[in-house]
Amino acid sequence: MIDLITTLAEAYGPVGQESGVRQTIEQLIKPYVDEIRTDPLGNLIAYKSGSSSENRIMLSAHMDEIGLMVTHIDENGFLRFQPLGGVGPWTSLGQRVRFADGTVGAVSSEKLKDIKELEFDKMFIDIGATSAGEAQQKVRIGSVACFDRTVAVQGKRLSGKALDDRVGCAVLVEALRRLEAPVSDVYAVFSVHEEVGARGAGPAAYSIDPTVGIAIDVTPTGDTPEGEKLPVKLGEGVAIKVKDSSLLTHPKVKEHLAELAEKAGIKHQYEVLGYGGTDAGTIHTIRAGIPSGAISIPVRYVHTPVEMVDLDDVEAAVELTCALLESPVPDLA
Ligand SMILES: [Zn+2]
Repeated sequence: MIDLITTLAEAYGPVGQESGVRQTIEQLIKPYVDEIRTDPLGNLIAYKSGSSSENRIMLSAHMDEIGLMVTHIDENGFLRFQPLGGVGPWTSLGQRVRFADGTVGAVSSEKLKDIKELEFDKMFIDIGATSAGEAQQKVRIGSVACFDRTVAVQGKRLSGKALDDRVGCAVLVEALRRLEAPVSDVYAVFSVHEEVGARGAGPAAYSIDPTVGIAIDVTPTGDTPEGEKLPVKLGEGVAIKVKDSSLLTHPKVKEHLAELAEKAGIKHQYEVLGYGGTDAGTIHTIRAGIPSGAISIPVRYVHTPVEMVDLDDVEAAVELTCALLESPVPDLA
């Protein structure tokens, strides 16, 4: 599991540039699914038939990560940029970032009188170029960088960039590997464009028309010093989403997930979030409405290069995903 998470998290794949991650995932899941396709937006959709084709379960984990997009190249080769997804100026400052071709850059800022003045329009990326011409040999307007960071493993805790949501991708890959006898038809979606408003999962859900939709994504924790008051804690198990600002989990879906976790003795907790969203926020609004929920993996420091997850929570998320797929879908009416 550590190797799988590391491979996926360290890959380059900002919003709109998911093809490398997609190829890696496609190779990983090929032996375990019946069909696999990439849709027009770039979502990877894998199908595995169940013993009954009465219901279709769609699971969605997003491949994209937050990034920085080049907006201007100055005469000395410094790059101005805008955030792609929920990146903050504070978490970008002092970071090394990496472009698709491997070009790395240092993120810095103009001299500020007060650090509170730190905003993206005062910041730049230095790729070591000495002129606009030299910079343009490596990057263009619209080129996108992601954080450049390897995964660190300390005991059960992993930290690195893009665990949002490559750890969710890893959970879904591992669940497909372990899955023995799915009851319903399974559609495993590795989606694009989540970080700019869960745009990829909607068209995927439209084409699949699932009975139930489940996002597999991360959720912030409330267990750091003087941190936010949030119910989820790292290491306390997989989180079953109750709500975020994009979704109120369908009550029967929430109950079903909770019952499965209880029956199988899977350590779990409940997520109530006042902001944020996942693919489920989009999936539930598609067609005539799709009962949806989310299997959440607790993460600290979300949208920074040092996102942190606990392997026991990851394992619990894999087990809950398998339990869901190996049980019939209850009556959701
Ligand atoms: Zn996410």
